[in-house]
Amino acid sequence: MERVLITGAAGFLGSHLCDKFLKEGFEVIGMDNFLTGSPKNIRHLINHPHFTFIEHDVTKFIDIQGSLNYILHFASPASPIDYLRIPIQTLKVGSLGIHKVLGLAKAKKARVLIASTSEVYGDPLTHPQTEEYFGNVNPIGPRGVYDEAKRFQEAMTMAYHNFHNISTRIVRIFNTYGPRMRLNDGRVIPAFMGQILRGEDLTVFGDGSQTRSFCYVDDQINGIFKLLFSDYHLPVNIGNPEEISILDFAKEIIRLTNGQSKIIFKDLPVNDPLQRCPDISKAQRILGWTPKVDRIEGMRQTFEYFKSLSHEELYQTDYKNFEAFIKK
Ligand code: NAD
Ligand code: UDP
Repeated sequence: MERVLITGAAGFLGSHLCDKFLKEGFEVIGMDNFLTGSPKNIRHLINHPHFTFIEHDVTKFIDIQGSLNYILHFASPASPIDYLRIPIQTLKVGSLGIHKVLGLAKAKKARVLIASTSEVYGDPLTHPQTEEYFGNVNPIGPRGVYDEAKRFQEAMTMAYHNFHNISTRIVRIFNTYGPRMRLNDGRVIPAFMGQILRGEDLTVFGDGSQTRSFCYVDDQINGIFKLLFSDYHLPVNIGNPEEISILDFAKEIIRLTNGQSKIIFKDLPVNDPLQRCPDISKAQRILGWTPKVDRIEGMRQTFEYFKSLSHEELYQTDYKNFEAFIKK
């Protein structure tokens, strides 16, 4: 049986990756320090005969007994209000963390896939974003801690690939959503859905003309799986190219959920990218991958998940972080 280590396993994407690899017949070792993830996301796997969980901070030396065939490095805060709250940990996991992961890969002769992000393109000056675009990032802005950590992570991965001959894969993930996102993580889908469920107004930042393109988690996981087993080592965008403005998106969510909420406007956070949409022609050509789940269907599934949360979870939103993020 092939063995795979998944860092960030108790997070949103990491937990879905654990499910996928177990389903495909791998032995899975999940690793997480619960910085932004939750034991709840992997509770259903704890008694699985091929799943082991190790609570560990990946910025520290990683010790794995036995062989390892693959490592998927997904540990990192991922939401803007998270990396505003924990900027140093965000920088450390993208720098010290990737160093430990690549060192482990070298020792075990394992293939590594790293979770990079559309944020490496910053507030992009070309549209849609192809993998060849170098980006427009403000290193000292509030998003710099995340964007630069991820850019460093890519550079380190390429260096290990070129210098140590490690087999590496780099996925640039564009906004992905679905069940197991944290309702209070501040990202737009949990934020809007939580507001609907609490009967609050939807907070659109700026005038809502900024755009995003939302990819359902099942599509994202399939893309990542295909990339890992491809023979392509340069970065690949995985996301859904259907673009929508945040204002139209807020209206769509109200319609879809029969919500009674109104829309209110708040300041646009500093360096909030104005337009974001992946060019996925490389993924289509090289991986034969294309997203299948349409936004309305994906949103329905996600809303069902948020509806199933307890009253306590629904009211856990940390408004102090939220306001701090908007004001910066
Ligand atoms: P998440 O916050 O749900 O998951 C991240 C996980 O990493 C958490 O469980 C957290 O506890 C863990 N973690 C953080 N620091 C750690 C450390 N030092 N040691 C061990 N574990 C640590 O976020 P997510 O949305 O699942 O994102 C997962 C990965 O995908 C991240 O690397 C993120 O940058 C990347 N990504 C996600 C998206 C998206 O839309 N979801 C977009 C682009 C990139
Ligand atoms: N956003 C918003 N209201 C919210 C939360 C987010 O208008 O309550 C906007 C945010 O300013 C950004 C977009 O929604 O333009 C997507 O934000 P998210 O944090 O989900 O991810 P990003 O793509 O910015 O990393």
